[in-house]
Amino acid sequence: MSNMRVNGERLWSSLMAMGRIGATPKGGCNRIAFSDEDRRARDLFVRWCEEAGCHVSVDRFGNTFARRSGRRDELPVVMAGSHLDTQPTGGKFDGVFGVLAGLEVIRSFNDHGIETEAPIEVAVWTNEEGCIFKPMLGSAVFTGMIPLDEALAMREERAGWSIEEGLERIGYAGDMAVNSYPVACYFEAHIEQGPVLERNGKVIGVVNAAQGQRWYDISLEGQEAHAGPTPMDARRDAVVGASRIVLEIDRIGRSRPNARSTVGRVSVHPNSPNTVAGRVTLSGDLRHPDDAVLREMDGELRSAASLVSEELELGLDIAQRTYIEPLAFHGALVDTVRRFAQQEGEPYQEIYTGAGHDACNIAKVIPTAMIFVPCEGGISHNETENAKPEHLEAGCNVLCNALRAVADGEVDLS
Ligand SMILES: [Zn+2]
Repeated sequence: MSNMRVNGERLWSSLMAMGRIGATPKGGCNRIAFSDEDRRARDLFVRWCEEAGCHVSVDRFGNTFARRSGRRDELPVVMAGSHLDTQPTGGKFDGVFGVLAGLEVIRSFNDHGIETEAPIEVAVWTNEEGCIFKPMLGSAVFTGMIPLDEALAMREERAGWSIEEGLERIGYAGDMAVNSYPVACYFEAHIEQGPVLERNGKVIGVVNAAQGQRWYDISLEGQEAHAGPTPMDARRDAVVGASRIVLEIDRIGRSRPNARSTVGRVSVHPNSPNTVAGRVTLSGDLRHPDDAVLREMDGELRSAASLVSEELELGLDIAQRTYIEPLAFHGALVDTVRRFAQQEGEPYQEIYTGAGHDACNIAKVIPTAMIFVPCEGGISHNETENAKPEHLEAGCNVLCNALRAVADGEVDLS
């Protein structure tokens, strides 16, 4: 079994060099997709890859692929990647780690004179963060979830230009057709963006699934009334009903392992301190990696809300706005990640992703797996986002060995 070691110092210094593009005063990065900083980050990546002997190609949506040839270049490519764009007050690691870990693997193969059977590619997906336009667009176009022409024509108020124009402006409107050659599999290494690994003292997260999600608009209809003359037993108070539903939703998440439940927005009408509220709308957000449990949570939300509405004589409407199916990553690839996490000799655990990633899109059409490493305090989408060099190195070692194993045909992907 392959036991390659990457150069952790080089990985770290590359991360720090990339972090200087769009650097913010608090140590983070501002590298919004289609900005000059996005262009400079891509240019640096391309230069590094060409220096490492890769051939770089750019597809019509700006997705960029650096290829290291294999012994048999006609084989489907084995891919790793992530994104280089950040939130306006983002960090140095979200996305960047997955891209530069892929590059570090290639550099390490070069150092050790290793040739793989299949070619290896490092992918940079366009506009993962979705600060303008939707998130995870490059991978969505790659998988055909959003047609290329529709995506290129997207134009947003804030932007004032189309994506096609944005790509041309930064010089990444490529001419290669999207998804035009076979890809054997895709790995994405990423910081966890949550506190689980750190809390459990683990260094590697073997990511086996992505949470399913259900988002709701919940509205309660009561009766507006004067706060003074209206006795307590004569009220139909929508805020009281909403408060009880908020607590129920919180309980639904707390009462089962791996569940998440959130009310992030409350709107009160008429929102006046001396009027009993006549109407409240709440957002609801339920998440779980197991669809059956997510369905159970949905049922519980509905019955809890009905009970509240009956007891308080409130009208109730629950509209599910979004449903995202839970996703299981590819079994053989997850096994491969686990095998090399074990070999790494660092503590690891099975984990699922709570955040969306390009890998979640790619997984719909290509065997995919992810590798997590801890980030400090679980903090991400934040200028103070931080990760330990030795953890990043360990994650990159796992990626390196996994890529090599698949590229050498040691993993059955059927
Ligand atoms: Zn990311």
